[in-house]
Amino acid sequence: MARRLLTAFKFHSKTLNDFHHFGSRCAYQNLSICSKRNKASTAATAQPINEQEDVKDLETTPDPAFARIDTSFDDAQEAFKSKTNSELIRAYLVLQSCAVKPLVDYNKQLLAFGRKFLGKTLFEKFMKGTFYGQFVAGKDIDEIKPIAERNKSYGVKSILDYSVEMDLSREQAKDVEMDAVASVGDKGYAANDEADLANRFQGHRDFGDRRDNVMSARTYFYKDEAMCDENLQHFINGIDAVSGATNATGFAAVKLTALGRPQFLLQLSEVLARVRRYYETLASGYGTGKLQMADFERHLKSFKVGKEERQKWFTILDITGDGEIDLLDWHNLLEINLGLAKLLQIPNLKTGKLEPLVDALTDKEEEQMMNMLRRMDTIATYGKQKDVRVMIDAEQTYFQPAINRLCMEMMRKYNKDKAIIFNTYQCYLKDAHNMITLDLALSKRENFHFGAKLVRGAYLEQERDRAATLGYEDPINPSYEATTAMYEKVLTEVMQSIQERPKGDIAVMVASHNEDTVRFTLQKMQEYNIRSTDRLICFGQLLGMCDQVSFMLGQAGYSVYKYVPYGPVEEVLPYLSRRATENNTMLAKAKKERRLLRQELLRRFASLKFFYRPTPPAVSPLDAMQGKTSA
Ligand SMILES: Cc1cc2nc3c(=O)[nH]c(=O)nc-3n(C[C@H](O)[C@H](O)[C@H](O)COP(=O)(O)OP(=O)(O)OC[C@H]3O[C@@H](n4cnc5c(N)ncnc54)[C@H](O)[C@@H]3O)c2cc1C
Repeated sequence: MARRLLTAFKFHSKTLNDFHHFGSRCAYQNLSICSKRNKASTAATAQPINEQEDVKDLETTPDPAFARIDTSFDDAQEAFKSKTNSELIRAYLVLQSCAVKPLVDYNKQLLAFGRKFLGKTLFEKFMKGTFYGQFVAGKDIDEIKPIAERNKSYGVKSILDYSVEMDLSREQAKDVEMDAVASVGDKGYAANDEADLANRFQGHRDFGDRRDNVMSARTYFYKDEAMCDENLQHFINGIDAVSGATNATGFAAVKLTALGRPQFLLQLSEVLARVRRYYETLASGYGTGKLQMADFERHLKSFKVGKEERQKWFTILDITGDGEIDLLDWHNLLEINLGLAKLLQIPNLKTGKLEPLVDALTDKEEEQMMNMLRRMDTIATYGKQKDVRVMIDAEQTYFQPAINRLCMEMMRKYNKDKAIIFNTYQCYLKDAHNMITLDLALSKRENFHFGAKLVRGAYLEQERDRAATLGYEDPINPSYEATTAMYEKVLTEVMQSIQERPKGDIAVMVASHNEDTVRFTLQKMQEYNIRSTDRLICFGQLLGMCDQVSFMLGQAGYSVYKYVPYGPVEEVLPYLSRRATENNTMLAKAKKERRLLRQELLRRFASLKFFYRPTPPAVSPLDAMQGKTSA
């Protein structure tokens, strides 16, 4: 298994040719408006005095977008100027019905009844005039283009999100999931004291329906390899559409569970968690948080690892060559190096024996794993070729170590000259700040661009229940306030890194519907002198939700994206069902949106604008921006 995993990594991370990294970064810096942090180097170049003065003027001018935006997000006329009256009425009615609890509680039954009672054609018409029309952009790429184009002319770009889900009952979902996570390979390691890890990274029938209580995210179940190839094709089509419809200003969203059998993600996650725990246990014994060569050698010696072998381990791990191993070095344990195969055997501190970390894979499982890596690679290569950025969604914590790790491997490979691959960090996790700090450090040390989407996290209740039932520590922050504090800490860390590193090295999306979080970000951008025109920080919301935030940001000149779901009516019903539930739980937010919608409708009717037609600005806020770049 160890050899197979490593071979897979080798396959996955073949080095790319040189992308003229340095040259392109210099060109980028010349194009962009220089911020204060680049002042010294700008001033040092031999430019005519008046040009330097121009640069200073730009630097000291307040960010026009910040001056323009009304951060109360209370200006209904401005917020909805891109919408027709019928769109406002639809939004109002849909959000209003999401507030009616029985309608939401029984939405699945009602949808099924509606489908039966109205018949396919009428039902589709009804859905397009209501829920589907509000939250989904169309059945395919051609249908979504008009919405994507109109939104873009108001400064709101698109992240295409193919939202078709298998429509399974709970029991069916559990059956499918248990098949997909079972490994028929031999258990390679002895039962040891790490039962919590084993529990955490194994499929459990009670939690087999991964759709339970999920906010905002769609769920893929594994049926077979052919279905994963179909999903791959949808992602590729999405990249094509982004590149065609948005002239490469967009993203395509990808979920790794759509691309293969999730059992591999579980196994790799378990390996990573064990490896990390091993390091932490060892390092904590030495007080400094770092391992000295002599200590590590002594430790390995007690496991009868030969001298030559011991030194090889240390040389591979001590990447900085400073005679110490820190967590960042350790993070590279699964580095693409066949010589490391032995490291996938970790000494068991209790039994005193070397143990393989994971189950052995059968030939079929190995093939499935390779297929998944191949599909990921195809998407990333295609995204790079088309200059479309690929946003990898975060999922449940039992998949997340693997998803995070694979994402970093892709960044290492594809983000040499700009951020093409974006990872997602869930700030409801206690470990969120540690994780992003480590990944930022890795990208800095290995000189690749870092792309991140920051979210609070979609699987709160599921995660808490699973941890409590299976007996491992709850990975989620203890309260909503703690999650918000974590979000702000993570965002501040990223902004600090943006300031410290060469401009353009880091790009981040603040994906949240929370107005306070958006205000916090705008304020911090001012503080860190990150201008809207830098295009280093962008915002993300879902189509049909919190338009007052997205459009106010876009129209002011900030970089903002909508996740734009698409798919045929009948196949996105599970997604629509969740939209209804989420809007019902976000009572305060939905209430404000309804108030603004009502206010704007009344204003238009009072001024006799019964047939209001939006007139997009002659020059979109996007086109008005200079130096369009990564965010
Ligand atoms: C563009 C976009 C992309 C997204 N992509 C992903 C993704 O890839 N992966 C993913 O997991 N989610 C994703 N989400 C969903 C996101 O994680 C949130 O579930 C959703 O956006 C609600 O959070 P908020 O900040 O918008 O709103 P808020 O209402 O301010 O926050 C609600 C969130 O706070 C957290 N929370 C609530 N109560 C508690 C509590 N008692 N203790 C601790 N935390 C609590 C939960 O995360 C909850 O979802 C995405 C959302 C958007 C808008």
